[in-house]
Amino acid sequence: MGAQEHAVVIAGGGPTGLMLAAELALAGVDVAVVERRGDQELEGSRAGGFHARTIEVLDQRGVAERFLAEGQPVQAFTFGTAQLDMSDFPSRHPYTLALWQNRIEQILAEWVAELPVRVLRRNAVLAFRQDPDGVDVHLADGGPLRARYLVGCDGGRSLVRKAAGIGFPGWEATKSNLIAEAAMAQEPEVGVRHDERGVHGIGPLEDGETFRIVLTEREVRSGSEPTLDELRAALVDVYGSDFGVREPRWLSRFTDATRQAATYRAGRVLLAGDAAHVHYPVGGQGLSLGVQDAVNLGWKLARVVHGTSPDALLDTYEAERHPVAARALQHTMAQSLLQGRDPRMSALVGVVSEVAALDEPRKRLAGALSGLDIRYDLGDGHPLLGRRMPDLDLETDDGPVRAFDLLHHGRPVLVALDDEDLDVGAHRVPVVRARHSGPWELPVIGPVTAPTAVLVRPDGYVAWVGEGDDAGLKEALSTWFGTGSCAHGQDGAALRA
Ligand SMILES: Cc1cc2nc3c(=O)[nH]c(=O)nc-3n(C[C@H](O)[C@H](O)[C@H](O)COP(=O)(O)OP(=O)(O)OC[C@H]3O[C@@H](n4cnc5c(N)ncnc54)[C@H](O)[C@@H]3O)c2cc1C
Repeated sequence: MGAQEHAVVIAGGGPTGLMLAAELALAGVDVAVVERRGDQELEGSRAGGFHARTIEVLDQRGVAERFLAEGQPVQAFTFGTAQLDMSDFPSRHPYTLALWQNRIEQILAEWVAELPVRVLRRNAVLAFRQDPDGVDVHLADGGPLRARYLVGCDGGRSLVRKAAGIGFPGWEATKSNLIAEAAMAQEPEVGVRHDERGVHGIGPLEDGETFRIVLTEREVRSGSEPTLDELRAALVDVYGSDFGVREPRWLSRFTDATRQAATYRAGRVLLAGDAAHVHYPVGGQGLSLGVQDAVNLGWKLARVVHGTSPDALLDTYEAERHPVAARALQHTMAQSLLQGRDPRMSALVGVVSEVAALDEPRKRLAGALSGLDIRYDLGDGHPLLGRRMPDLDLETDDGPVRAFDLLHHGRPVLVALDDEDLDVGAHRVPVVRARHSGPWELPVIGPVTAPTAVLVRPDGYVAWVGEGDDAGLKEALSTWFGTGSCAHGQDGAALRA
């Protein structure tokens, strides 16, 4: 029997793989996800939420409400001891959404289940072999799959990355943490403690009986399966008591090892999420980075699969997303150091925190941590170029519309804001005529000159800015949208409807 074929196979159905599957399915791509786990349950709580730009990209697809209905908006950013309140940022979501990764993944999986995506659970990618036309993917259940592209969204220990021979350079661990969810016979000291080693914390979970425990270990240890005795000893070491800890329902270890894939692409094999970058979880960046990798890659891969853009479009994925993760790695290394509190570190933390609390540094740091300040390098020009399209209230002849509503289908859109006729030639990019009477304001940067038109990519980033004429529009259209038309039948009518 021949191998079953899909245009794209995704190894791993965590947050990154699920988001990528949704993006590809929305763009009409035949996609399959291979996931080792039998369901979307996670053993432990892992990520505690995601940040503003991630909420925005979900809003661009019309699914943010599903997460907002269950999560709590919080001002979560700190740097040293400075609180970085971002509630004055020009976004509909100037906050972090606190929601455990377990629920985030389940909500993503429910959305994916509504889309034409084949999910192969209790299975795993074991190996693959690529040739000039595609990739043969070998699965644990023996069934081979044939794909035009394989994307490794299979986490920090990514088999796909290793089998593709992609290096994972970076920095070895300098500290390790135990993390557990366990009952305790005695009332523990709840809260966060800092010492010369780093941070320790104990907090109750929703059931009121289980505690989440995070401890920085005295020595750097490796191995993700520590024992209950190690947890007890580490508690005694920090608090002088193990509080009668028992029955951990989750016990694991993480370190500050910091690494990034040398390349995000080897031929027909690509990497996204933790498979492409790992770092200390301080600042809660990982899940957000992965989801946004997926949103950057999805529409590009779809166009290449449909033959409406050349294969070279895929190279812009690494060019745009590698620097974003590299910056997050730098931030997490700096923040991880600032958790230490020997007298000299305390002095540094004091100075850094004083500066971070000032208005300009606060905005810069919160802009970076939230992802709202991301600028892809699309050349010089208007400040909007390469930055996210703000979710403005627009007026059209058919009534009011939010800018993000125009992106629900995952398609590009040209928003014409004055009466000039803009020619999109053979590209069939939908043109929406709209007016916006309010200011244009960008996070961190502030007010910018109102453009007369903007070409917005499916991921919400501005690919061209009109300033009174159509200079450069033709070039931007062919750079990002090739010469082909929409391959799966949706055009401007759907967006204007
Ligand atoms: C203690 C801790 C706290 C964290 N806190 C935060 C936080 O507050 N905020 C935040 O943003 N991030 C946080 N993170 C990081 C976050 O959990 C990850 O960045 C995120 O899960 C990455 O998503 P991913 O889909 O790329 O990879 P993963 O979540 O690792 O998903 C990979 C998937 O691939 C599957 N898989 C693996 N190998 C194969 C294979 N060969 N074949 C098929 N399937 C395979 C796995 O079963 C898994 O489902 C934290 C992490 C830890 C450990």
